[in-house]
Amino acid sequence: MAVHASRNVAVLGATGSIGASALDVIARHPERYRASVLAAGGNVDALLALCATHRPDHAVIADEALYARLRDGLSDAGLATRAHAGMAALDMLVVDPDCHVVVAAIVGAAGLASTLAAATAGKRLLLANKESLVLAGELMIAAADAAGAEIIPIDSEHNAIFQCLRSRQAQAQVSRIVLTASGGPFRGRSRAELAQVTREQAIAHPKWVMGPKISVDSATLMNKGLELIEAHHLFGVGRDRLDVLVHPQSLVHSLVEFVDGSTLAQLGLPDMRTSLAVGLGWPERIDSGVGGLDLLKHPRLDFEAPDLAAFPCLQLAWEAMAAGGTAPAVLNAANEVAVSAFLQGRIGFLSIPALVEDALAALPAVPADSLEVLLAADAEARRLTEHNLAGHLSA
Ligand code: NDP
Repeated sequence: MAVHASRNVAVLGATGSIGASALDVIARHPERYRASVLAAGGNVDALLALCATHRPDHAVIADEALYARLRDGLSDAGLATRAHAGMAALDMLVVDPDCHVVVAAIVGAAGLASTLAAATAGKRLLLANKESLVLAGELMIAAADAAGAEIIPIDSEHNAIFQCLRSRQAQAQVSRIVLTASGGPFRGRSRAELAQVTREQAIAHPKWVMGPKISVDSATLMNKGLELIEAHHLFGVGRDRLDVLVHPQSLVHSLVEFVDGSTLAQLGLPDMRTSLAVGLGWPERIDSGVGGLDLLKHPRLDFEAPDLAAFPCLQLAWEAMAAGGTAPAVLNAANEVAVSAFLQGRIGFLSIPALVEDALAALPAVPADSLEVLLAADAEARRLTEHNLAGHLSA
C-alpha cells in the first residue's frame, strides 16, 4: 500500500455548505489530509466551533472588526490556532509553502483574490467559487497554467466532465459537452407563474442542499449560465461545443460526446462530497462517505430542453459569453446585487433577470486584458444595479 505524506488543506468558506462537505471528507482521511487553514466571512461562532473540531494552524475571518472575538475565542478554548483577519491575510496563507491544497469555496466575487493567489502560487486548487472564473476566467487559467497549478473543478457538472475527460483540456476529439441542470424548484412553471414566488420557495432546492445564493441562482437558471462560462474557461471550449439539458433527477452530472459517437457521462447521488473527494484524491479514488448509485431504486432518467422564455438568465449568460470581454463580469456582478436584494425581500423574482439585462445593455462589453479592467466593470455593474433597484422595490 502506498504511503502518503499528509497534505495541508486550506478551506476557504469553511462555514458554508461546500466547506462543511470538504471538512467531512478531510476528516475521513486523517492520515492523508489536515485542515490547516479555515476561513470565513463574518460568522465567528461557527468558525470557532470548526476550529475546536479540526484544530487548524490558522483561522481567518474576513471582517477585520471581528478579529478580537476570534483571537479571544481561540484562546478561551485553549486552542493553538492563530487568529487572522482580512482578505490580505488569506492571500498570504494560501501562498505559503506549507499549504498544499486550497478549497476555494467563498461565495461570490469576494473569492476572486484568494482563488487567484492560489492559482498563481501553483497549488492544487479545488475550485467551487465559480464566480471568480466567470469574472476573470482567462486570467485565472493563464495564471494557473503558468504556475503549474492543478485546478480540479468542484461544481458537480464540471467535476463530471473532468472525470470523463480525465483532464482539464477538451481535445479536438470532443464534439460536445452537455451540462445537465436539475431545473430548480420552479421547473415547468411559466414566466407569469414566477412573478409571485417567494424567497423560501426559491431556496428550497429539490435535489441539492446548498447556500442561499447558489440556490436562488439554480431557481433562475443563472447558475447554469455561470456554469457555461465556467466550462468555457476550464475546458477551452466555445459556445459551438457547449449545451444544456434539464435532467430533474440530478443523477447524471454531465456528459461528454466524442467524434466517434461515444458519449461518456458521470453518474452519482447528488452529494458534493463526491466531487470534493475526487479533487482531494485525484488521480486516486478515496472514500467520500457517499454511497453508490442503485439504479433499480432510481430507474428513471428524464431529459428536456431548458425553457429560455421562462428563465431568461440562461439566455443572458449565453449572450454574455458570446460578447466576451467584460460582459461576464457585468453579468455576474449585476446578478450578485439582484440576488442579494431578492434574498432580503426587497425585489421580486422576475426583477433578477430584468436587472441583469439592464446592466448588460447599459455597460457594453469592452476587451478585458487586465484584472483592473475587470474589477472596474464589476464595480460599475454593482453601482448601476444598486441604483436600478429603486425601480424594482417590492411594495
Ligand atoms: P454558502 O453561502 O453556504 O457559504 C459561503 C461561504 O463563504 C461561508 O463560509 C461564508 O462565511 C464565506 N464568505 C462569504 N463572504 C465572504 C467574504 N467576503 N470573505 C470571506 N468569506 C466569505 O455557499 P456555498 O457553500 O453554497 O457556495 C460556495 C461557493 O461554491 C459558491 O461560489 C457556489 O457557487 C459554489 N458551489 C456550491 C455548491 C453547493 O452545493 N453548495 C455546488 C457548486 C458550486 P460566513 O459563514 O462567515 O458568512
